[in-house]
Amino acid sequence: MSLIVHKYGGTSMASTERIQNVAKRVAKWQRAGHQMVVVPSAMSGETNRLLGLAKEITDNPDPRELDQIAATGEQVSVGLLSLALHKQGVKAKSYTGWQVPVRTDSAFTKARIESIDDARVRQDLDNGYVVIVTGFQGIDPSGSITTLGRGGSDTSAVAVAAALGAEECLIYTDVDGVYTTDPRIVAEAKRLERVTFEEMLEMASLGSKVLQIRSVEFAGKYKLKTRVLSSLTDPDMNLAQEAQSGTLITYEEDEIMEQAVISGIAFNRDEAKITVAGVPDKPGIAYKILGPVAAANIDVDMIIQNASHDGMTDFSFTVHRNELKKALEVIQGKVQPEIQAREISSAADICKVSVVGIGMRSHVGIASQMFETLSKEGINIQMISTSEIKISVVIDDKYMELAVRALHKAFGLEA
Ligand code: ASP
Ligand code: MG
Repeated sequence: MSLIVHKYGGTSMASTERIQNVAKRVAKWQRAGHQMVVVPSAMSGETNRLLGLAKEITDNPDPRELDQIAATGEQVSVGLLSLALHKQGVKAKSYTGWQVPVRTDSAFTKARIESIDDARVRQDLDNGYVVIVTGFQGIDPSGSITTLGRGGSDTSAVAVAAALGAEECLIYTDVDGVYTTDPRIVAEAKRLERVTFEEMLEMASLGSKVLQIRSVEFAGKYKLKTRVLSSLTDPDMNLAQEAQSGTLITYEEDEIMEQAVISGIAFNRDEAKITVAGVPDKPGIAYKILGPVAAANIDVDMIIQNASHDGMTDFSFTVHRNELKKALEVIQGKVQPEIQAREISSAADICKVSVVGIGMRSHVGIASQMFETLSKEGINIQMISTSEIKISVVIDDKYMELAVRALHKAFGLEA
């Protein structure tokens, strides 16, 4: 008998009918002898609806009250799921984050989990209950309800599983696993049987939206076996088969080393580029440009500085597209008067394409293979950045699909 955590996303919880399917699946796992904890999201669309109500009242809502409102979506889900389990003849009890409690910091709308008290949950498990805990929320030191940021139920589930020392955390979702790239772009994309935490972390930060990035950080930190699998299968399907389906996110790198060098191609259309041209190439220039950007709380992703000519250089960096306007205001308002650049320009029609794989650690030539592939397609690379297990390039947005397809093929990722 082992302790298993299931997480169900909004799509799986979308109607009372679907919730009853979730209950059937959970009941099946319990009957097989497992202790079960379930962490559901709000019914799909519900969080948006709740936040929309707040917006009808004000454009500038107090984040504390937003969390108070948004957290109710999950409270409804856990209660409904508990009733559905009762109907299956299963003992079940539901809790909100503050009842467990799941303790967080006070960063409303993007709180971080600090600790989880497992006493109550454990006692119920020992008494034969399925325990259902809300995703997405917790309580801060002053007793206010907090939420963990959109998609935060993934993180709740993994954190609860880690706190309880669960055998595995299964994340049931509307895709059947993690793919080599988005199957909507490349039809030949294939599901990965396994992927390492590190690769998953890169993929999540580079644009793959399968899991909330913090949940992957948690899973990696606690070495928690985490599986992404489909919630759209028949709830009565064979359990052994279900338990092996989807993609396992693992820390056992050795097994994966046997696989392809590259695990996936990620892409991201959320960035924009700012170029500050014709600035003096002298110590302190990067700080003069990026210092005020950081002070304005704007995240900078890629940075490139050209070789200098006659003591002058060009400097480019990328920010989230939503922050382009704010970043430009900082550059024009605070930076330009200081540095007197020849020209400031920006481009939002860019995208970032990345190849990811821990195999890069032991193989050379991945970067050149990537650049060769793009050059054969006539795609100009505007910026490059690398880490130990990924290479990213910024290219013109209109070549994104072409680049992803060509790289997917070049690295032998097709099914
Ligand atoms: N219900 C929350 C959201 O829509 C949390 C989640 O679904 O993971 O973002
Ligand atoms: Mg989600």
